[in-house]
This record gives sequence, C-alpha cells and structure tokens, in this order.
Amino acid sequence: MAAAALYKDAAAPVEARVRDLLGRMTLREKAAQMAQIERTVASPRALAELGVGSVLNGGGSAPLPRASAAEWARMVDDMQRHALSSRLAVPILYGTDAVHGHNNVYGATIFPHNVGLGASRDAELARKIGEATALEIRATGIHWTFAPCVAVCGDPRWGRCYECYSEDPEVVRSLTTIVAGLQGQPPADHPHCYPFLSSLRENVLACAKHFVGDGGTDKGVNEGNTICSPEDLEGIHMRPYLDCIAQGVATVMASYSQWNGEPLHASCYLLTDVLKGKLGFKGFVVSDWEGIDRLCEPRGSDYRYCIAQSINAGMDMIMVPFRFEKFLEDLVFLVEAGEIPMPRIDDAVERILRVKFISGVFEHPLSDPSLLDVIGCKEHRLLAREAVRKSLVLLKNGKNQKEPFLPLAKNAKRILVAGTHADNIGYQCGGWTITWHGDSGRITDGTTILEAIKESAGADTEVVYEECPTEATVETGEFSYAIVVVGEVPYAEWLGDRTDLSIPFNGSDLISCIATKIPTLVVVISGRPLVIEPHVLDKIYALVAAWLPGTEGMGVTDCLFGDHDFLGTLPVTWFRSTDQLPMSARDASYNPLFPFGYGLKMFQCD
Ligand code: BGC
Repeated sequence: MAAAALYKDAAAPVEARVRDLLGRMTLREKAAQMAQIERTVASPRALAELGVGSVLNGGGSAPLPRASAAEWARMVDDMQRHALSSRLAVPILYGTDAVHGHNNVYGATIFPHNVGLGASRDAELARKIGEATALEIRATGIHWTFAPCVAVCGDPRWGRCYECYSEDPEVVRSLTTIVAGLQGQPPADHPHCYPFLSSLRENVLACAKHFVGDGGTDKGVNEGNTICSPEDLEGIHMRPYLDCIAQGVATVMASYSQWNGEPLHASCYLLTDVLKGKLGFKGFVVSDWEGIDRLCEPRGSDYRYCIAQSINAGMDMIMVPFRFEKFLEDLVFLVEAGEIPMPRIDDAVERILRVKFISGVFEHPLSDPSLLDVIGCKEHRLLAREAVRKSLVLLKNGKNQKEPFLPLAKNAKRILVAGTHADNIGYQCGGWTITWHGDSGRITDGTTILEAIKESAGADTEVVYEECPTEATVETGEFSYAIVVVGEVPYAEWLGDRTDLSIPFNGSDLISCIATKIPTLVVVISGRPLVIEPHVLDKIYALVAAWLPGTEGMGVTDCLFGDHDFLGTLPVTWFRSTDQLPMSARDASYNPLFPFGYGLKMFQCD
C-alpha cells in the first residue's frame, strides 16, 4: 500500500508539508488556490473540480438576514466537503467580515465598532473581544475574518471612520491586541512575523486591513489618494502593521486606495519590498473585493494586464469574486506566456498553504456543533456591555461645573425619552451588521437604549417615549428630565462619505425644542463626531458620545444612571464645523470643540 502523503501528516513540520503539497500541484491547481470566490458561486465544480483556495461572503454578497448559526455552519461545511473531495483534498479557507462580532449572523453578539473601542483605550478588552468573536465565528465553521481594520483615520468625512480605532497611530497600535484574541497568542519563543494558532478549535485567522494609507486619503474620500511623504506613510499609517505582524497576523488585505497616485493593488514597492521584505510579513496578502477589476477600470487597462501587474507586485490571493473561471484561464495563460514568473506563483501558493496548515483547517475542516451555544451567549453579551460602558465619552455634564447633571436619578417621577435612535437596534449597530450597509429596526437580538432606560430607571419612574414628541408633550409633560438619542443612519464604505456632518433628521431642532423646556441629556449614536451647534450645546445639560455601541444598550445606562463612571476619552477630534476638516492635533491652528483625548468623569476623586 502506498504511504500516505507527507502533507497529510499533522505531525510533520509545516514547511515540509508545504513543500510536499506544492510539489504535487499542477499550474491550474496552484492558480485555483490563489482565487477567492463569492459564496453563491462556490459550486461543486469550483471547489471539487477546480480546487479554488478560498470562499467568502463579503459586503457585496447577498445577505442571509435570518439564517441561524447552524444554517451558516451547514452551508460552510458543505463547501468544505466539496473542497475535500478535490484531487489533493486541500480545504478552503472561508472568510467573512466579522468586524464587530460575528456581525453577519442573526443573534450573534455585536460589539461596539472600532471607534468606540478606540475611546476605551483598553487593550485587554480588545483582546477579549477578539477571543469571543473568534469563538462565535468558529461555531459557524468559518476559519478567517477580514479584521481588524487598522486604518488611522485622518478625516471623519470618510465613510469608514467608525472602522478605525482612532486618528492617532499609537491608539490604533495599542488595540491590535485583538489579533492575539482572534488568532491565539503566539508562543513567546516563536519567531515573530509568523502566524500561529494556539488552539485549533477556538481561534480564527485575522486580516489586518487595508494596507496601507486607507485612512489618509485626500478629503477623506473612500478609495481615494493618500498624498504624503514616505516618512508619514511609515510613521502614521504603517505603524499598526508592525504590531499586527509581531503578533503573527496571518493575512493582510491590500487597500483600494492609492499612495501618491500609485494603486496599492499594484505596488511592488509596498506589498513586496516593504510589507514582505522590510516588515518581514510571512503570511499572505489578499486583494480587496474586485480589487483587480478596479485596477483596470479607471485606466481602461486590460484585465490580464492588471492580473499580472497585481500578482507581480506581490498579491497572493485574489478576491475575484465572481468571474473566477475567466480569472483562472487568464492567470494560467499569463504564467505560460512568461508574464508572471513561476517562482512568484510558487511563493504565493506556499504562503497560502502555510497559513492553511498553521490554521489547523487540514485537521479540523468542519464546524463543531458543540460550539453553537456560544452565539450571543450571556458571557459574550456581558463582555459587549462592558465594552459599551468603557467606550462612552462624557462631553458635557451640567450647566456649570458645580452642578453636574449626571448621574441621572433613579427615583425620578416622570422622564421623557425621545429621538430617532432611542429605540433602534439597527441604528445602534451601524454598518456591517446583518447587511453590508446595516439597517433600521430590529435586525437582530439586543437591547435598545429605550429598553435599557426602562430597565435601569427606578421602578417608580414613569418613562414616556415619543420619537418626535409633540409640543403638547414637551410643554405639559412635567418631566424631571429628557434623554434625547440622535445620530447617524447606518452606512458602509463610500455610502458614508459626507461633506455635511450635521445631525440627521433635523436632530439639532429636535434637541433645541426639547431642551428649551426640559433639562436634557443628549446621547449621540454615530460613527464619528457630528456638528453640535453652539446654541444646542448651550441649551443642553449633558452630552454623551456613544459611537456605534452594538446590541448591548444596557452598557449605556450603566453609566447614565451612575452604576459605573465614564471612562472613555475621544479617539478622534470633535471638530466645530466641517470647514475645519481635515484637522489634526499636530496643527498649530487646532481649535476643536473637544480635543482628541477629551472626556469627563462623573465621580471626581478628591
Ligand atoms: C471592503 C473590505 C471587505 C471586503 C469583503 C470590501 O469592499 O473594502 O473591507 O473586507 O469588501 O467584504
């Protein structure tokens, strides 16, 4: 009987397994490993006959709004079984955008978006969130998340500001501990720059994105041009990657943006010389969604030419995601024509296989049904609630310093709750929740801020809720105080690029109208600072930035009613008006409404 192939031996050294498997592959099989395709086209032909290397559900995928975690697991397992029936039985890596919890799955725990975690400055919290998220992802048979986004936000007009931890590279760096939470801690004696999963069952591969300079584009335009010196690119935008690599991040996603006019998807200097060379990144680089198509479009270039340009620049896996048969045909053609050297293909495939071996997907390709209970479990929701609490930033407390307005009394007689965002889980969660751009209403399980207020206010307090209260309610309600919750409507990527950052739905008017008659606390739910007009700020008694807190509204009331103090400080500058943008704490003319790092406490220590 023939001996089993070396690459199938879990006890063999990873590098030996990589070489053995690579040596058995045809050019077509190698090309297929480099393709990442969308889940709806992941047919038995794609997986079993062609042997594509990876499948994803991305922002551009049709959502599965009501699919249970078990249904997700079944879908991914079915694909995996097809991949395992291919000639060499190489498992796929299935990737998903789990960017604030396992956010595509109904009932999963939704953590605050990164900007909120940036306000917490809590590295250990970020690590724990990584661990919890990894577990929920693994419960659905998935091995890879396209997170964390380690962009340094240079301009809040950018629609992805909320995916950034901060405008400050040091804050972003400090929260890359999420990588260790997702992937598992690399052992102390392990050479860094190498992916390593400490537990094959409980961890997933992370993906630091989008390399590099995505947060620094001119005027905050999504997928725009980052104009800066090599020193600034390195000193600001590249710094968090050093930390991710030191923690063994397995994959890096290239940015759609350009650096001084050169698209990152075609930058040999940045992908190969810098990332893989100077920074010593040993994992693989994945393109962004249709990243190669977007290289062609503005330039009217030929698709084949762009494939060669990108792969020769150092791209290892291509998020195709639909036209993969054409992509494979073209890739094989380019190699046979000598346009892409064979050693480049071997390098890309080696990197992909290395990550696959280390991830444990060969040994544990299928989901573990005993993990299903972790989805949205109590422990994870408590962690999310803690994260919400720590992310809140208290910006104003009282008309003057001597008379603080918060904490709110638990024995008030009658309070008014108002505003578009008081009772809306979808708004609380923001983009990348169930659907790509997020949505309004009860899109998943969770506690709205209104529900949390009802739970937290004293038993004798009457809570009156009107989204947009009538004049009569405001005038005659005899309220002790009002809580007005306003903010942004969910969006993702370019859908969120804005030049007008005033409070949507005439929020300022609503606040003014209520605050003129009732002492008012305003809670802002948003992915970035919004314009707070001086007359509004003047009228209100207290102001809290809650960012995009996710499903656990109780985290907000934990602080409002004084069970916990506010700990958050601004991760981004709160500007006065959009005319000031872009603005940076490094500018001599820096004159914000609230500076970077600002945040009050309710309870002062004497
Ligand atoms: C986004 C990435 C995301 C990918 C897959 C792209 O449009 O830029 O952040 O990971 O889609 O959904």
